[in-house]
Amino acid sequence: MPGSPKNNQLSPVYGFLRNPSMIDFPGRISGVVFVAGCNFKCGFCHNAALMGQSRPGLPWSKLEEYCDRLTKQWADGMVISGGEPTLLGDGLKRLIDFIKNFGLAVKLDTNGSRPEVIRSVLSRLDYVAMDIKCSLPRYPMIAGFKQPDRIAESIELLKESGVEYEFRTTIVESVHNLAEIAVIGDLVRPCRRYVLQTFIPRSDLPGEEMRNQARTSPEYLHEAKAILENNGCAREILIR
Ligand code: SF4
Repeated sequence: MPGSPKNNQLSPVYGFLRNPSMIDFPGRISGVVFVAGCNFKCGFCHNAALMGQSRPGLPWSKLEEYCDRLTKQWADGMVISGGEPTLLGDGLKRLIDFIKNFGLAVKLDTNGSRPEVIRSVLSRLDYVAMDIKCSLPRYPMIAGFKQPDRIAESIELLKESGVEYEFRTTIVESVHNLAEIAVIGDLVRPCRRYVLQTFIPRSDLPGEEMRNQARTSPEYLHEAKAILENNGCAREILIR
C-alpha cells in the first residue's frame, strides 16, 4: 500500500473486535479497533485496565489483514475506540488514513477532552460519538478531569462541523438524577442526536461504589428521554 507504515512497525492499536458489528457505527457494518490509555478516571468504566496505560500495539501488518478481511465481510466502516484515541495526537491522523485506504468510513469514539486533536482530524472523519459524562462542574468528581471548558469546546466544535455526530451518556441512576439530566440537555441543546446508554454493573469496575449499583431501568431511561424531549435537547433522542 503506497505510503503505508512498514509492516514490522507497531501500530497504536492493541486489539480489535473479531467479527463485524451492526451496532457500533450507525447505518454501517463495522469493525472496531481499540487503542490503550485514557486521561479520565470514570468509576463506571468498562475498560478500566486501560486507564493511564500504554500497551504495545499490533504490527501494522495485522491491522492490514483485519481491514482487508472486514471489506470481504461486507463491512463499510471502522470505529476507533479506546481508551481515548485523541491521546494519540498526530498518530490518530496516521491511523485514520491507514484505515481509509481500505475504503472504510471512520467513526471516532472520544471523551471530548482534546478539542484541538478532534479539530485536526475532523475533515477525515465520517462520524464522531462523544461522551458527555455529566454536567460540566461535576467532571472533576465523576471523571477525574479538571478542564471541563475543553468538553464545552468539543461540543461546540462538533455542532458547528458538517460531520455526523452524536453525544451520549451512560446513565447511572445514582449519579444522574433527573435534574442532572436536564442540565446535560441544556449543555448540548440544540444537537442532532443524543443517546442515553444503559449502565451495566460489573464486579471489576474501577469505582467500588459502582459495582453494586443497579442496571439502569428502562423506566428511568424513558423518564430521562421525556425530560430531554421537553427541553428540545436534540432532533433525535435514542435509548441504547
Ligand atoms: S473516558 Fe471512557 S475509557 Fe476513559 S475512563 Fe471514562 S469510560 Fe473509561
